[in-house]
Amino acid sequence: MLDIQKIRADFPILSQTVNGKPLVYFDNGATSQKPQVVIDAEVKYYNEINANIHRGVHTLSQLATDAYEVARGKVKDHINAKFAHEVLFTSGTTHGINLVANGFASILKPGDEVVVSSLEHHSNIVPWQMLCEKTGAVLKVIPIDENGELIISEFDALLSDKTKIVTVNHISNALGVINPIQYIIDRAHAVGAAVLIDGAQAVPHLKPDVQELDCDFYAFSGHKMCGPTGTGILYGKETWLNKLPPYQGGGEMIKEVTFEKTTYADLPHKFEAGTPNIAGGIVLGTAIDYLNEIGFDKIHEYENELLEHATKRLNEIEGIRIYGNTKNKASVVSFNIDGIHPYDIGSIIDKLGIAVRTGHHCAQPIMNFFCIPGTIRASFSFYNTKEEIDAMVDAVKKAQTMLS
Ligand SMILES: *Cc1c(COP(=O)(O)O)cnc(C)c1O
Repeated sequence: MLDIQKIRADFPILSQTVNGKPLVYFDNGATSQKPQVVIDAEVKYYNEINANIHRGVHTLSQLATDAYEVARGKVKDHINAKFAHEVLFTSGTTHGINLVANGFASILKPGDEVVVSSLEHHSNIVPWQMLCEKTGAVLKVIPIDENGELIISEFDALLSDKTKIVTVNHISNALGVINPIQYIIDRAHAVGAAVLIDGAQAVPHLKPDVQELDCDFYAFSGHKMCGPTGTGILYGKETWLNKLPPYQGGGEMIKEVTFEKTTYADLPHKFEAGTPNIAGGIVLGTAIDYLNEIGFDKIHEYENELLEHATKRLNEIEGIRIYGNTKNKASVVSFNIDGIHPYDIGSIIDKLGIAVRTGHHCAQPIMNFFCIPGTIRASFSFYNTKEEIDAMVDAVKKAQTMLS
């Protein structure tokens, strides 16, 4: 069992009041809060070893480089990549996806196909649309059903030898639905397509094993898993990363530069042009250590309890509709109340100290599918409690009374 009060004490922000009420933070799907060890590690970096990496012979530069590479090693172990050079530091999921989509511009021919799903975040839609525009490739979309689940038979029907890459999220940010990515990866590979998994919503809740999954790319953000903003990881299989051209040109990513010809550095540096978020990368390692100390098995079990409790309590509310009704769900509840705009509920419960997300959650196609402007999304983390859920349910009921 998790000692929730002890865990909560690790997060200074959680003891705040907002609008005179104790903060109830249920916007973890947008970004997680940070434990003191992460905040301290960031300060320690700037106090003690701040220097640019991979360049200086001086001691601080060496210390900073070592710490950065140790963090890369932690990520490699965490996601079970085969090699540390398959782990690229990025500024977030968006950066990682754009890096891959940009690389595929040199691979795709007119008439080739890119498969995405209708459950995607805009950052796993728009880069592929831009790629298709550039190359003449065609975007194909896996539809969803009323429960918010991908229609797998339709996915099967989309695949052919024209399919060059399939890209889906591991867990939907808008609905919390966990997608059958193992099946998707295996089927896509059977037609020779590469697979990118957008793991932004998965990594706060589970520990992906990229070798077992056998995905070609796995992108995620540090800030949704207790790490700093502006950090992220793109895992890519060595063979693919060698095949793709660099994303940005600049310092750090070259072997030799002359005006006649530039040769690129080896992996991972080929994809890491310029001075990165050094402090952020190092501290992402600290965040991963913190989560592993708590343990993903325990996190999963506890968050499931929170999800069950929230679903049961919210269903007491008359006129509620929860979107994403599947057995396989992360601790996210996306809902609406009959006749009331989600924004109005969100604003009223904010006055009561409760932070939820309202709107389309960067996933407008899902909202269009359900013919709604948006939802109220409560996304829970292992530091949330059932008492906080009860406070949210009371607040939503109060808002409903005020607005109807
Ligand atoms: C948050 C999120 C992204 C974008 O992540 P950034 O950190 O903003 O780059 C992409 N996909 C999903 C599913 C997300 O939840």
